[in-house]
Amino acid sequence: EPEAAKPGLLGRLFGGGGAAVEEPRRLVDDAMLESLEEVLIQTDMGVETSMRVTANIAEGRFGKRISTRELKAALAGEVARIMEPVARPLPIYPKRPQVVLVVGVNGSGKTTTIGKLASQFKAAGKSVVIAAGDTFRAAAVEQLQVWGQRAGVPVLTAPEGSDPASLAFDALTQAQAQGADLLLIDTAGRLQNRQDLMEELAKIVRVIRKVDATAPHNTLLVLDATTGQNALSQVEIFRKIADVTGLVMTKLDGTAKGGVLVALADRFGLPIHAIGVGEQIDDLAPFDPEDFAKALVG
Ligand code: GDP
Repeated sequence: EPEAAKPGLLGRLFGGGGAAVEEPRRLVDDAMLESLEEVLIQTDMGVETSMRVTANIAEGRFGKRISTRELKAALAGEVARIMEPVARPLPIYPKRPQVVLVVGVNGSGKTTTIGKLASQFKAAGKSVVIAAGDTFRAAAVEQLQVWGQRAGVPVLTAPEGSDPASLAFDALTQAQAQGADLLLIDTAGRLQNRQDLMEELAKIVRVIRKVDATAPHNTLLVLDATTGQNALSQVEIFRKIADVTGLVMTKLDGTAKGGVLVALADRFGLPIHAIGVGEQIDDLAPFDPEDFAKALVG
């Protein structure tokens, strides 16, 4: 069971029912700030970011009384301010096809996200091709084929265990010949052997650049928001392996740990192109900093 259907942790801990007629006004003192900081850390915002947000809240308010509503509004404002610069939709390049390499550990929601992205772009009138680049995971290839069917998008596959770079090369050549707008390339997510994965991704990039020297145009890292602080180390690892240009945060529908997005934005400043809010094909939403901040604060 997820901790909460929606990340309203602050609301619960500060007892903000919302409809209270006479709200208690809390004194902004060290004890209050300490518990605030603790609550922020519990949302996986990270110690550093939580401390800074708390310090910003304290500024101009220390020694005064504040209502729950005012506190929430101030917090939401702080969070939104951190998140605004990273809320960016996937940039669209005039290049055809635009090549999007999708990376991330197994289970993060890569396959699902590719299906959702394909469906969105298809609905927007773009022609999309998917390459099932995780050739070592038969289940992933099958899963991707199911998503491709749902989205009405062709999925190019290769025999199990064959070279993903060669599939990527063929896929790009084919997508180019067809005049496709977008090529989404799935990749393996086996972090157990980082060196192998690094070489595999590097080879995919090297090979597709023979077809288009500007490819890949985006390298999306898919992160599971419910993994909390783990997401931070995954960014660090994948940034060493691939030239990550943006993030998709999945499973934001079932977590009280959404604060990790704040930590990510604060630490890496990578754009968050979209968020996964469910398992269905339409459950991919643009990242809206104000909605997110309000939901997190509760
Ligand atoms: P992959 O191994 O990275 O390709 O991950 P999958 O795409 O197979 O997803 C792993 C699991 O997470 C599946 O059960 C998906 O249905 C689920 N999943 C993916 N994205 C989301 C999301 O945004 N919300 C929820 N609730 N589940 C998701």
